[in-house]
Amino acid sequence: MQWGRPVGEHEAVAKKVSFIAATTYALEAVVELSSQLADDKRNDIRIEAALAKLYCSEMGSRIVDELVQIRGGRGYETAESLAARGERGVPAEQMVRDMRINRIFEGSSEIMRLFIAREAVDAHLSAAGDLIEPGVAAGERARAAAKASGFYAKWLPTLVTGQGQRPGAYGEFGPLAEYLRYVERASRKLARATFYGMARWQGRLERKQGFLGRIVDIGAELFAISATCVRAQYDATSGTERGPVALELATVFCAQARRRAEELFAQLWANTDAKDSALARHVLEGRHTWLEEGILDPSIPGPWIAVAEPGPSKAANVHRHIG
Ligand SMILES: Cc1cc2nc3c(=O)[nH]c(=O)nc-3n(C[C@H](O)[C@H](O)[C@H](O)COP(=O)(O)OP(=O)(O)OC[C@H]3O[C@@H](n4cnc5c(N)ncnc54)[C@H](O)[C@@H]3O)c2cc1C
Repeated sequence: MQWGRPVGEHEAVAKKVSFIAATTYALEAVVELSSQLADDKRNDIRIEAALAKLYCSEMGSRIVDELVQIRGGRGYETAESLAARGERGVPAEQMVRDMRINRIFEGSSEIMRLFIAREAVDAHLSAAGDLIEPGVAAGERARAAAKASGFYAKWLPTLVTGQGQRPGAYGEFGPLAEYLRYVERASRKLARATFYGMARWQGRLERKQGFLGRIVDIGAELFAISATCVRAQYDATSGTERGPVALELATVFCAQARRRAEELFAQLWANTDAKDSALARHVLEGRHTWLEEGILDPSIPGPWIAVAEPGPSKAANVHRHIG
């Protein structure tokens, strides 16, 4: 309770509660759909499995981070500390530490994005790989151009229109149909964006990790929306107590995921990637080590005291190690 109301009723916290509930439902849907595809033993599930690993690790981390925030100081406290004070021992901070490793091991998120992106551009590399390869002889390049033209003459028209533009398409999904129409439209837009990226950067595309990462993250959001709609439709017709309530979770998740995907689309072409790479290079060259001045060395145990020292323009607080 804060300011006379449960914290979950304050809008800033309500948004987090909504995100946690809706996303938890979606992550289960992603894992179940991917697992069913695997159990079928008929499908190439490399992309779905990798997306499930990447997306659930990233979103799961955000969920537990928000959990700690909602629980405030109690979220930061260990379960033992809470229990010792007579409170319920919720191990929220432990969940953050335990979830954190999922973004690193069994393929770090950065490597997962590269792996998935490689699969996504595979068709382009087979069609136009020789064309974008530097140092290819003129004759070979001409043959590669003819091959690529044949591929793109057939492929590009398939990206112009689709079911997502037909009002009423996917009607069997009821109120979720609009999100499946969005997925269909956005998938074609994503394929076009990948093609533009190939055309723009050619062989250098593989080093454009910011662009490729966003392509993959958009794909993950679209996959999660699809899985969530399928799961919600199943739950709705299952006759269980989930039926009537699952739709609310699915609708909110789809709306949130669509917004994230739209932001990522915008960032494909408007971002700070080049500036970030330049700054990182300068940091690695040592140009900004002066930023480290005055920072405490965490390897030196305390005690520390805060003292006021005159700075260039005003008195600066400096921490001094004593002892
Ligand atoms: C607690 C724990 C348990 C583990 N258990 C196991 C286990 O049971 N079995 C096992 O096989 N391994 C295990 N590991 C190892 C784990 O799989 C690796 O730590 C993980 O794959 C990351 O590799 P790395 O630590 O060498 O990081 P690095 O490869 O050095 O990566 C460091 C950072 O650079 C990024 N990076 C690396 N290469 C690129 C690139 N080309 N482009 C962009 N970014 C890049 C990474 O994403 C990461 O952010 C465990 C690790 C930990 C911490």
